[in-house]
Amino acid sequence: MKRILTGDRPTGRLHLGHYVGSLKNRVKLQHDYETFIMLADVQAMTDNFEHPEKLEENIRQVVLDYLSVGIDPKVSTIFIQSKIPEIAELTVFYMNLVTLARLQRNPTVKDEMKQKGFGANVPLGFLAYPVSQAADITFLKADLVPVGVDQIPMIEQTREIVRKFNELYGHVLIEPEALVGEVERLPGTDGKSKMSKSLGNVINLSDDSATVKKKVMSMYTDPNRIHGDEPGKVDGNPVFTYLDAFAGESYKSQVISYKEKYEKGTIKDVEVKEFLVQVLEEFLEPIRKRRAEFEAQPDLIDKILKEGTEKARKEAQETLNLVKHAMKIDYF
Ligand code: ATP
Ligand code: MG
Repeated sequence: MKRILTGDRPTGRLHLGHYVGSLKNRVKLQHDYETFIMLADVQAMTDNFEHPEKLEENIRQVVLDYLSVGIDPKVSTIFIQSKIPEIAELTVFYMNLVTLARLQRNPTVKDEMKQKGFGANVPLGFLAYPVSQAADITFLKADLVPVGVDQIPMIEQTREIVRKFNELYGHVLIEPEALVGEVERLPGTDGKSKMSKSLGNVINLSDDSATVKKKVMSMYTDPNRIHGDEPGKVDGNPVFTYLDAFAGESYKSQVISYKEKYEKGTIKDVEVKEFLVQVLEEFLEPIRKRRAEFEAQPDLIDKILKEGTEKARKEAQETLNLVKHAMKIDYF
């Protein structure tokens, strides 16, 4: 069976963007691939190192998010990055295979550095996180990595490291492929190009009805449309992007008709938003219900994490042995 490795930074609860970008593929593929899902707490620290106390609660919430969308812990292995010290060791070896200039050219790193205002004072750990991500993916010998499009440069960086390692030391590591979701990058409620935990423009999978309604009703739409009787733009309008992503089959013809009316100027923003609230409620309600069932079993999460981490650790130890043997540093 081929393998999947993917994961999330425990920087907050998971949102609609995670669902369409990656979670949906994970749920769909977990029976066809041996699936590993990592809580990237070490990576989260690279830009949140002042607040490590938030990680533990976020980890619990993200696991609840997984379970509530249908990740089945009987077939998917969920583990914590910092509990696998072999990842740190691999990262040190891989650092020799990447140049500073190459990391600085990584487009996602560049975007995130700008967003966080790091400039020349970027922490080394942050700049190097793609190298650590190569260690995450390769210690599990993953074939496939379901991710949002922002992660494509990271997978490319991993592939380069794998090729260089295998060329130098012999064929040990697997070159992974990325699998991008149906919606490769869901925009934020503020119209920014990416819904992102650190941008505060999210609708969480665990938001209650009142919160969803409030967030949708204040969503960004077509900024040039002032009145509901003016023609509006559908392309690039996040309200319609969400409708395309979340409206089920039974709503499809209604979505088409709303788009036509919007372009003609015969429907108000507020009516489209009310429709979106209805569509999102239908999607989120079963997720909330499952979440409540899992919340009622507080020991379950510890058990899932402990067992998953133990299993992942064994894989890491095996890979590290192979790596050291290939590098001829398994002295005794
Ligand atoms: P942070 O702001 O802390 O980086 P994030 O919202 O970007 O958080 P991550 O934990 O970095 O979330 O990403 C986890 C996975 O979800 C990655 O595969 C990423 O590509 C995907 N993802 C995150 N946001 C979106 C989005 N808006 N659209 C599609 N995929 C997304
Ligand atoms: Mg991110």
